[in-house]
Amino acid sequence: MDYIKLNNGNEMPILGFGVYQIPPQDCERVVLEAIEVGYRSIDTAQAYYNEEEVGKAVKSSNIDRSKFFITTKIWVSNAGYERAKKSFEESLKKLQTEYVDLLLIHQPFGDYYGTYRALEEMYKSGKAKAIGVSNFYPDRFVDLCEHVEIKPAVNQVETHIFNQQKIAKEVMKEYGTQIESWGPFAEGKNNFFTNETLVSISKKYNKTPAQIALRFLIQQQVIVIPKSTHKERMIENFNVFDFKLSEEDIHSLESLDQEKSLFFSHNDHETVRFILDFKKKHHLS
Ligand code: NAP
Repeated sequence: MDYIKLNNGNEMPILGFGVYQIPPQDCERVVLEAIEVGYRSIDTAQAYYNEEEVGKAVKSSNIDRSKFFITTKIWVSNAGYERAKKSFEESLKKLQTEYVDLLLIHQPFGDYYGTYRALEEMYKSGKAKAIGVSNFYPDRFVDLCEHVEIKPAVNQVETHIFNQQKIAKEVMKEYGTQIESWGPFAEGKNNFFTNETLVSISKKYNKTPAQIALRFLIQQQVIVIPKSTHKERMIENFNVFDFKLSEEDIHSLESLDQEKSLFFSHNDHETVRFILDFKKKHHLS
């Protein structure tokens, strides 16, 4: 496993396991399988409704807590200083841990400055070993960075071969913030796994398109957290450290960049409404 040194000196595995859309009833089993495969970094969120199951899996693995890197995220409905603090205590309880390794603001909406103050306090208290944000596009990201005491250690944004975040990455660098990819396979959109360039490169290295897609990001020092509920795919996605893509192949993959989201833009007012409605639909506290 390779590690990335964050701006506070802490190390984060460059490859982790994401648990978005893993239903609570499957999540403990799936995370335990991921742990068996070797994953130690787990990415969950209040809005995934599976923090409790992640906590159970980590506990029942009987592996020391210090070997794990656990990330969770504060949802929009818990935005604001007081609510964020209270909801974070609930997250810690669900995760059965006294601290998380990384605490993120999930979306740049609501009173996220208040949320960030709570994160700074959690960081100083040691309950969050690192703090950061998610889905902060360059405009809001710069504004936040210019108005906070502790610069975000990480910004988790949609990043994959079709949306490579070249500009955003440069902006993050200015503040010492590490980019983390969500959706490294774009959840399979745009015929991801049968993309011609990916397939032809994968044959050259005797690897799969998924492995090439992850290796491409890892070689550019992008943290990845692929999700799978299938153990054989967890293994496949984990085995990306025994080969290196050539400059030429990196260039071919760079040319796939469409420089826009395959999901939705956080700058679009309909997206903002959709995200704000999520809490109503799902009755998130
Ligand atoms: P993803 O990792 O890009 O794609 C997951 C999809 O790819 C699943 O359908 C999975 O199917 C399939 N898959 C996985 N490995 C494969 C392989 N080797 N070959 C073929 N298919 C494969 O999507 P994601 O789950 O959205 O993103 C990863 C993580 O990022 C999430 O779990 C979450 O932790 C985080 N995330 C964060 C945000 C945010 O707003 N901050 C948003 C989205 C995601 P199976 O499960 O059936 O194997």
